[in-house]
Formats: sequence, structure tokens, C-alpha cells
Amino acid sequence: MTRSRPHVLLLGGTSEASALARLLAARSDIPAMVSLAGRTINPAPPPIAHRIGGFGGVEGLCAFLEENAVTALIDATHPFAERMSANAVEAARRMGVPLLALRRPAWLAVDGDRWREVPDAEAAVEALGTAPRRVFLTTGRLELPAFLAAPQHFYLVRSVDPPEELPPRARLILARGPFAEADDYSLMQEEAVDILVTKNSGGSATYGKIAAARRLGLPVILLRRPGTAEVETVATAQEALAWIEHRGAGLQTSPETSRPPERQSRV
Ligand code: NAP
Repeated sequence: MTRSRPHVLLLGGTSEASALARLLAARSDIPAMVSLAGRTINPAPPPIAHRIGGFGGVEGLCAFLEENAVTALIDATHPFAERMSANAVEAARRMGVPLLALRRPAWLAVDGDRWREVPDAEAAVEALGTAPRRVFLTTGRLELPAFLAAPQHFYLVRSVDPPEELPPRARLILARGPFAEADDYSLMQEEAVDILVTKNSGGSATYGKIAAARRLGLPVILLRRPGTAEVETVATAQEALAWIEHRGAGLQTSPETSRPPERQSRV
């Protein structure tokens, strides 16, 4: 692989990725591009060059790394984006490209939390039981189909984009975080929610509902994070930038290499 154009590829879709993109935008000496899956209907335009859409599996990602002479790969996808993260590990290994995961730590239970951790949405449905409940469901629209199997519950569904199908007894709130604890507390009270079902996403932007459930004494069914391969991991955009600088992987070496990567359109 030619290394004539040092180049960072940032796999995005999270607030951490956006924060790193903002830091990189201020660094003309580190050419970088962010990649988005294209799931969000109206994503905020990133401040650096970007591309949208899948690469076509490990092979496609390898080809992309090669074609764009990528010298550092940052996986800042969501902790539940299991497939993309696995593809990043394999492609980085095959192509010999240094890989860093930028991943917020998982939430940990504290005194007063009534958590039940489950491996996936199907197990969450099972954990809800058969008696009708009033569920605050914030797992994301892609997990929603599993809950169609339990139509006896009322679901207060909060999602960034509209789900394809809602359970028969549901109210949809379309909103993008961050969400304040006080607002989530009021919402859960007003809607007489008696259980929260969510992913262990980590981070502060969506922790309010966890704290609100604790204050209300409500149980929480928490989808556990998928296991991921051992990868060097940092928790903040600043640490990721320091890693890039330390490796020198994204730094320009000559005026010839100073052009930012060309902006690509939807692929
Ligand atoms: P996933 O199951 O791990 O990925 C499925 C496929 O989508 C990947 O194999 C890849 O397609 C493509 N893809 C995913 N992230 C990509 C990226 N950043 N750039 C280019 N292609 C990408 O992921 P997911 O759970 O569907 O999540 C999709 C995106 O939404 C991720 O970027 C993630 O950060 C974001 N997100 C996910 C969640 C969640 O709860 N899962 C929550 C918030 C945000 P190819 O195999 O064709 O390359």
C-alpha cells in the first residue's frame, strides 16, 4: 500500500466521533475523513470530508483503505455497532493499518439501581413478562421489531428516526439527545412508565433516563454490550487525537501531501 497521502479514516455515527471530527477540522495537518453508515435520515453535516454508506464488508473496507491510502483507522462507532467494529478489526489486521477504538465506557450500576441485564432485544421482551406493563423503550428503532411479539404492553418509544412499525399500543417521541434527567423524570411520571428498556450505551447524553428511573424506583432492563475483539481503546476525542499525533499516522509529511482528501458523495 502506498503511504504518500497520510490519511485518517474515522468510522462515525456517535457524539464521540463528531467531537473528534471537530478536533480534526481544526487540524489542517491531519487529513481525515469520517464515514457514516447512512442510517440517520438527516445527519448533521460533518465538519470534515465525509462519505456515506457501507463499504461492502471486510473486502470493501480493505479496498477503501487501500484506495485512500489510509494510515490510521479510528472506530468511533456506537458500542452496539458490532458488525462494523468486527469488520474494522479484520480489515485493519489484513491491511496493516493501526486501529484505535474510541468508545465511551459502559454505565455501571450504583446504589438504588434495579437493573436486569440481558443479551439482546428478544431477551428483553422475555424479561418484560406476560402481564401488561407501561414500558419506556429507547433501544433504537432497529431493535423495535422484537417488541411486536409482546403487544400486551404499552410502549413509550423514543427514537431519532421513525420506526417502520410500532406495537399496537404505543406513543412515539422523535427526538435526538442529549436528554436532561429532570425532563426524563417528568416524562416517565406523566406517562406512568413502570419499566425502562434501554441499551447500555454509556456516556452522559442519554444517562438522564437511568438516573430518573433510579429516583422513581423503577426497574430497568438493560441490553448488555456485545463482546468485541481486544483493540486499543480510548474514551474521549482528545485521547484519540493524542493517539493520532503520537503515532504520527495522520500527519502530513510534505506540501504534496497537504491536500485534504477529496470530498466524496454518497456511495
Ligand atoms: P452494524 O450493525 O455494526 O453495521 C452494519 C453495517 O453498516 C456494517 O457492516 C457496514 O456495512 C455499515 N456501517 C456501519 N457503520 C458504518 C460507518 N460508520 N460507515 C460506513 N458503514 C457503516 O451497525 P449498526 O448498529 O447498524 O449502526 C449503524 C451506524 O449507526 C453506526 O455508524 C453506529 O455508530 C450508529 N449508531 C448505532 C447505534 C446502535 O444502537 N447500534 C446507536 C447509535 C448510532 P458494510 O459491511 O457494507 O461496510
